Amino acid sequence: MNNAIYNFPMPSNEPVLEYLKGSKERILLDEELKRQAENPIEIPLIIGGKEVRTANTGTVTMPHNHKHVLATYYKATEKEVQMAIDAAKSAHRIWSDLTWTIRASIMLKAAELISTKYRHVMNAATMLGQSKNIYQSEIDAVCETIDFLKYNVSFAGKIYESQPKSDFNQLNRMEYRALEGVVFAVSPFNFTSIASNLNMAPVMMGNTTVWKPATTALLSNYYLMKIFMEAGVPAGVINFIPGQGSVIGGTMINSADFAGLHFTGSNNTFNNLWGQVSQNLNKYKSYPRLIGETGGKDFIFVHPSADAKETAVNAIRGAFEYQGQKCSAASRMYVPDSLWPQIREMMTEMALDIKMGDVMDPSNFMNAVIDEKAFDNITSYIDYAKASSEATIIAGGDYDKSVGYFIRPTIIQTTNPHFKTMEEEIFGPVLTIYVYQDKELDATLDLCDTTSPFGLTGAVFARDRVAASNICQRLRYAAGNFYINDKPTGAIVGMQPFGGSRASGTNDKAGGEFNLVRWISPRTIKETFVPVTDYKYPYMKEQ
Ligand code: NAD
Repeated sequence: MNNAIYNFPMPSNEPVLEYLKGSKERILLDEELKRQAENPIEIPLIIGGKEVRTANTGTVTMPHNHKHVLATYYKATEKEVQMAIDAAKSAHRIWSDLTWTIRASIMLKAAELISTKYRHVMNAATMLGQSKNIYQSEIDAVCETIDFLKYNVSFAGKIYESQPKSDFNQLNRMEYRALEGVVFAVSPFNFTSIASNLNMAPVMMGNTTVWKPATTALLSNYYLMKIFMEAGVPAGVINFIPGQGSVIGGTMINSADFAGLHFTGSNNTFNNLWGQVSQNLNKYKSYPRLIGETGGKDFIFVHPSADAKETAVNAIRGAFEYQGQKCSAASRMYVPDSLWPQIREMMTEMALDIKMGDVMDPSNFMNAVIDEKAFDNITSYIDYAKASSEATIIAGGDYDKSVGYFIRPTIIQTTNPHFKTMEEEIFGPVLTIYVYQDKELDATLDLCDTTSPFGLTGAVFARDRVAASNICQRLRYAAGNFYINDKPTGAIVGMQPFGGSRASGTNDKAGGEFNLVRWISPRTIKETFVPVTDYKYPYMKEQ
């Protein structure tokens, strides 16, 4: 038996490949895009390591060409959810008892597979199924997924090595137990890496999961599940259950074996799940851990000392990369009137220049939004702005869903800092700008802090370093990830641990030890070398 105490050093982040024409990675990717586009697959449920098919099916299509079917998937009913809970329960003993370095080696193997053998598979599936361009897919499906896997191994080691003090007559130890029961992992459509981490973070700490993937991310998520299995994740440790959220959520949260929820998605869904949990509290063996990262209404605050060009370029990237479908995407912006003419000119010019279309054409900076429901919701905000006397559309505003769900990058200027599109999460390529008078800087900072219920990301642009620092302090609770002279998106694992508070979630910082500690229930073990032999205190014997 190998009883060495092992430490995994902090890894380096996965390099982002360039995909230049003619490069090896580009050739492999192009071949795989063609293969996946031309060969629709079947996506079964995977329970206890076995494929399960049900009578109820659905299809996975390309958002940028919605008639093109990529896969047929099977939907879970309550029966399969219960089977998944049972499988996760029976795998719990062997997995949680396994030496943690073996679990770590499985994580690292999965990272290695994604970095090499399956890099192009993960990218092609994310590009076709979730409508991401090459770069957006590479930084998500490949690099961030790998970084989560590798950093968690290293963070887990730090947690396990932390032990309490002992004394000459006693030995004290902490045993970092996995939670007693099953973790419910519920993932969003917009990041393949998050789907991986929602499972693999609890799994690294010895837990087993029932995984409900987002229907609109099924293609990449299914390949991910197959990679986990090839890497050595044993049968039943992760159970892959596509289907309707309410059916799966209802059965899972009703179960006495429910031990925790690892969720990323909208604020509404998380609140709904939390409400269901609180109504079932008496059923559970332990108080379940509820970890949820939810929506944002992320801001860019421009100080009068800002560089206009840097601000404009970062606003465009922060608002429109991946069609604004990032929880961190800039969606409201405060600009001083002294800088507005310059910033406006540059931003409108860039917004008009943006090319949009199919992911197969690498000249497209933007692709389609995820599905018809999202398209209709986003365009309803654009129509609302078009009809309002308090708003002007200064770029974009056009949309078309005849082939794919395409919405032009849209910039709205409003005279009302509480205009609906300044307050609500839209989750699409829509940025609203409020122009303030330079002398109203202070009052505008208050507006920025109090306008939305969210607190996820925010950025300040300023060349005056003291002003930037004051604004950072002033907006302390407005964002869990705050940026100075940078766009509010693009957090990197190990560098900017991610998460926000207020209505944006429980802020357990994905990709760090703060998150991993939520997946353990420590047991303290004290062993005394000299047990007491007399119940009386020493001074009583003097009487
Ligand atoms: P969503 O809330 O619609 O869905 C998230 C997941 O919950 C999906 O798998 C969905 O099927 C499932 N679900 C829905 N109802 C359910 C129920 N009753 N029981 C169980 N599961 C249920 O979110 P989405 O559209 O997939 O993702 C977009 C949202 O995610 C945005 O609000 C975005 O801001 C947020 N998000 C946040 C972060 C973050 O780190 N804070 C990261 C990515 C996305």
